[in-house]
Amino acid sequence: MLSQSLFLFGQQMRIGLLTDYKVKRVAIKSEHGSYDIFGDTSIVSSLNLGRILELSVSDSKVMIHVGGLDTFSVSKVMLIPIKTNSSLILSPKQPALKKRSYEDALEVFVSKGVLQFVNVVDMKNYISGVVESEGGGGRHIEYYKVQALMSRTYALKNKRRHIKDGFELCDRVHCQAYHNKLKHTLKIRQAVEETSDEVIINFNDELVTTYFSANCGGQTCDASYVWNNSVPYLSSFKDTFCIYTRQANWTKRVSKTIWSSFLNKKYGVVEAMYGKLIYDFDQEDRKAFYIHPSLGVPLRELRTEFKLKSTYFSTRIEGDDVILIGRGFGHGVGLCQEGAMKMADLGFSYKQIALYYFNKIKIVDYSKSKFF
Ligand SMILES: [Zn+2]
Ligand SMILES: [Zn+2]
Repeated sequence: MLSQSLFLFGQQMRIGLLTDYKVKRVAIKSEHGSYDIFGDTSIVSSLNLGRILELSVSDSKVMIHVGGLDTFSVSKVMLIPIKTNSSLILSPKQPALKKRSYEDALEVFVSKGVLQFVNVVDMKNYISGVVESEGGGGRHIEYYKVQALMSRTYALKNKRRHIKDGFELCDRVHCQAYHNKLKHTLKIRQAVEETSDEVIINFNDELVTTYFSANCGGQTCDASYVWNNSVPYLSSFKDTFCIYTRQANWTKRVSKTIWSSFLNKKYGVVEAMYGKLIYDFDQEDRKAFYIHPSLGVPLRELRTEFKLKSTYFSTRIEGDDVILIGRGFGHGVGLCQEGAMKMADLGFSYKQIALYYFNKIKIVDYSKSKFF
């Protein structure tokens, strides 16, 4: 029975909404279609165009106010659309926030004294909202397809991440940004449909971790340089597609005193011992450590300390300063967004782009695969 309904309505996700805020009161309207309002297990009213439902916290219960009805409280409110292609508008009143709209069903309950919203949403609608929230407009469709493929893979791989909170994934970058239903870029809907049910798996038939960063600087970073464990599909290689793009190069000036005192305090690396060598670092190929591994200075720690765009930089002295000449933006592991955009513009397909950035992977339709 369950598998039959999944087949009819497609894969659904449970996404925690507005998890950044502590919402205590909200007004909800229908944007498209009508909804049945369930209080716990029974229908208490309906939400048609023009009607407003207000929900607030009362002890550990949800207080329901619908125009013309008495106010009453329940443990859980469910808004179930009567037809497909329905959507709701949420306007948080306390605190007052910008309104957002979401497709499909909505569940509301009280958790830790605030309203918790869960969008029970068709996978395609969810992925469309994520791709727009994370990528914005104006990109090539093949690029949107790669993003859809990665978001879908991520969603299925991380489905248990928020299970203790009563949903699967949150709407923040902690999981995947999902700030609204797809609003502006219709091309994204097409990209999601045309890659429907496709995910990225490794040669052991496991969903991969789809890391990406803004710009790898011309060489992707081995996962082990960032997180200490190496992942076969995330090994380093030279990316020729991003080198002339917007975020390919950067420089930064740091005073020699600040630079050397950090190296000294944290790692015991002193100029008296190594001389000017401690300022002179050449990183033609990506490295994990500053100067030499024996000094024990991980580049990722320098990046954090000095708020650098990437770990892919060389250094030299200029007067009283250390000049950092860097490439790329982000951790550099996995897919390089500016490189992938460039590939799409040059006519590569989303599959070619995914296979370029992830090693030893396969793209499969999970709905037809026996291991899901
Ligand atoms: Zn999360
Ligand atoms: Zn790149």
